Amino acid sequence: MKWSKSYLYTLKDAPADAEIPSHQLMVRAGLIRKVAPGIYTYGNLALRAIRKLETIIREELDKRGCQEVLMPMVHPAELWRETGRWSEMGDGLLKFENRNGHEFCLGATHEEVVTDYIRKDIKSYRDMPANLYQIQTKYRDEIRPRFGLMRGREFIMKDAYSFDPDPAGALKSYDLMYDGYKAIFDRLGLRYRIVEADAGNIGGSKTHEFQVLAEAGEDHLMVCDTCDFAANIEVAPALDEAPRASGEAGLKPMEEFATPNLKSIGALSKATGVPERELVKTMFFAAGEGPRDGRLGGDGGVPESGGLSPVAVLLRGSDEVNPIKLKNALGLVNSPLLLTEKEVKEVTGAWPGSCGPVGLDIPVYMDTGVADLKNFIVGANKDAFHLKNVNIGRDFKATKIADIRMAKVGDKCPKCDGAYKSMRGIEVGHVFYLGATYSKAMGATFLKEDGSNHPIEMGCYGIGVSRTVQAAIEQAHDKDGIAWPIGIAPFHVHIVVLDPDNPEVLQSAEIVYRDLGARGLDVFMDDRVERPGVKFKDADLLGMPIRINIGGRGLANGEVEVITRKTKEMRKVKLEDAVEAVASMATQMKKAGARA
Ligand code: ATP
Ligand code: MG
Repeated sequence: MKWSKSYLYTLKDAPADAEIPSHQLMVRAGLIRKVAPGIYTYGNLALRAIRKLETIIREELDKRGCQEVLMPMVHPAELWRETGRWSEMGDGLLKFENRNGHEFCLGATHEEVVTDYIRKDIKSYRDMPANLYQIQTKYRDEIRPRFGLMRGREFIMKDAYSFDPDPAGALKSYDLMYDGYKAIFDRLGLRYRIVEADAGNIGGSKTHEFQVLAEAGEDHLMVCDTCDFAANIEVAPALDEAPRASGEAGLKPMEEFATPNLKSIGALSKATGVPERELVKTMFFAAGEGPRDGRLGGDGGVPESGGLSPVAVLLRGSDEVNPIKLKNALGLVNSPLLLTEKEVKEVTGAWPGSCGPVGLDIPVYMDTGVADLKNFIVGANKDAFHLKNVNIGRDFKATKIADIRMAKVGDKCPKCDGAYKSMRGIEVGHVFYLGATYSKAMGATFLKEDGSNHPIEMGCYGIGVSRTVQAAIEQAHDKDGIAWPIGIAPFHVHIVVLDPDNPEVLQSAEIVYRDLGARGLDVFMDDRVERPGVKFKDADLLGMPIRINIGGRGLANGEVEVITRKTKEMRKVKLEDAVEAVASMATQMKKAGARA
């Protein structure tokens, strides 16, 4: 492709809403342009990178026996009602009516549509396994679209769905996809970690996320400093480096004491001399599933206690509650909301800061970190009073003891003696073992050999295609621009023609351009009538892996310059050797990328 004949542009400055380098660079390099929040036009260069990634995905999935299909983007409401997700997904689904008043949504994910597709034809165990995938535009009405293609409203996803007659088969399909994803991200040369994750509202149990490591990542990961264990902080088990039990002391009699103006754990710790980690804090959440404004007596709420369905949550003073773990412990679809101060007062009789579990008639969820404490201090449910020498079992009952706190750096790894360190990641892929959640809800069943009827075992597997392209840039750039990994670079080679109005230079460039193309490389040529400085800046910004400078001065010595974008290393090469040298560099880079 020649610049003089293409619609390509670069910008000096990034727009104010571009907060992270990859977003700024994509806009400046003309890869994307915003149409509305979270909605972009992909320019030709971005589309080339996307198509290359898609090719890698297709090759790896086809190799593993997956089959490509294409499902619609517009889904009838009835299918989503069958699984209950029409309401569960809330405003995340963009819903609308057609001229006949029929309700539809734009596809945010395709479990419903694919299950409907196969339930008509999979009748027997002999019709499985099957694994269908598509590469398609999804729409999610994200609350806060940001970071360009990282969190868009409209974005490209590869989604795949597996169908097996039993859990063993489904887990085999899961492993196959897990391996396929490794092969895909390895070929891209990305630095990534595979982490344990929360199943979210897709449902299901076993799940891993593929996280590209980058400071700008929205996900917080806990990674073992010794073994390969890694988990999203949302689910990372919290295990102390040493037991927390506060000695062998016997149970002392419970006592009330005055604590005027001691509302925070910090203040209480200072006044009592008890370290924060030995204090117990009590928080209150609404365990009803309704939306917040419908919660108090509205339709969404649960009837008890005025629709609040309150629960108390106990944690060590130095720990933070983990909303995802709490959601899972409570068996909820969405993370529970904190009660307001007024609601706490209604439930306990005291304002927050003076509340505790003793005497409450609501469920008490206790973090495992509290379970081994004895003779501890909690609020008395009486303003400006606390209780000391409180003990579990004797003074109050815990409805459930579970790990509901945030893991911390230094916590013990659940797999070995190592400790957690913290990293940031961009979730580019996700594999789920779904079990029979969708097939049961939608009546997708089959006959076993013995003639009995069973729901199909499913898995679902996503890759954020557009997000991955940006994640690659987030990992591979410098102050001057993008440094594309060769696997998805829009072009392998960028020829800068320094004097395009010099016929000898232009002719030499044309020959190199043609011969490199004939070697199977994607070649881009900047043949604009522009100053060299402008062209060099643009070449750095666009970031193709190999650049060739061809100009009159070099050609006088029969030479051209060959530059590696990533290292900026430059060498002079004889014109007649240039094609061979560049082709072999590209081969080397492809090999190194696949090994990285
Ligand atoms: P997130 O936690 O980032 O919102 P998710 O877990 O809801 O994502 P999945 O349902 O697992 O997303 O979707 C599969 C893949 O699609 C994700 O791993 C991610 O790479 C991509 N993806 C999801 N939401 C977006 C989005 N808003 N913009 C771009 N890519 C997305
Ligand atoms: Mg996910």
